[in-house]
Amino acid sequence: MNFQKFSLSVYLLIMTFLLSCQNRQNTISYEDNAIDTLISVGNIRNNAILITFGSDAVTAINTHDGIVVIDAGISTKLTSKYRKIIEKEFQSNNFRYLINTHYHPDHYGGNSVFKEAEITGYKSGINEILKQWKDTTKVINSISKIVNEYELQLQRSELGTVQWVESFTQKMRYVNALKDAHNNSEILQPTLTFEDSLQIELGEMKLEMIYFGNCHSNSDILIFIPELKILFTGDLVFKYGRPNIDNSQLEHKEKWIRAVKWIEKRIPDIETIISGHGEILTLEDIKSFNKTILEKCLN
Ligand SMILES: [Zn+2]
Repeated sequence: MNFQKFSLSVYLLIMTFLLSCQNRQNTISYEDNAIDTLISVGNIRNNAILITFGSDAVTAINTHDGIVVIDAGISTKLTSKYRKIIEKEFQSNNFRYLINTHYHPDHYGGNSVFKEAEITGYKSGINEILKQWKDTTKVINSISKIVNEYELQLQRSELGTVQWVESFTQKMRYVNALKDAHNNSEILQPTLTFEDSLQIELGEMKLEMIYFGNCHSNSDILIFIPELKILFTGDLVFKYGRPNIDNSQLEHKEKWIRAVKWIEKRIPDIETIISGHGEILTLEDIKSFNKTILEKCLN
């Protein structure tokens, strides 16, 4: 896997410009340049790239019959940048499917950038998204709070350090999410949903999906592409296989067991595991996750 390493000196230079810049218009364009510099593009396969920026992670796969995108980031502006990168990389704008690993805003905020694609995910999508945006003022207030927290962190960090980059990228993600919320930007709802499992054939590839059961969210799904040997786990698994369980009531433990078996069956064919925020997990991580989930179900 060849991940483009961002050059410390390049962004240091940009940041120095940014800080020394007095004019607001220029500040915006330097911020924009800094964002462009800090977007990372990794080649997962010849026909698959992983784009990351802070916690935004968008994977694009080019099949003979069009492009599949997994997750859409938190905002329309940043995701428009990711879209341009994908189009350039694959020399195509034939977007066929956008699959949301689950319906948290940092995974569907940029859905509308891929208007022509079939937005795909668990059946609860439409209700979930509507529920989350019922009180826009509340959403705006909570995003504003996050922006302020990252701004404070940014002020406390030394320019060019890992901490600084972390605060800058996260702040920019939430600044752009806030703009979308203020502008009442369209949030595209899923158009192709499933309750149990779904298989899509696209060109030479198969996309296998299964609903995990309520766990990290009320809409977690797993996606496996046998031809590429890639498994997508959304936000279900952290490094070292730690499960990311928000709903701890085990109400869906039958479904969890079924999903774990589904993963186990595929383990010999999995080479790459991509989590919802772009972290590459190991087979050991996923085995340990499976074990922990089964143990929880037995108790
Ligand atoms: Zn999530």
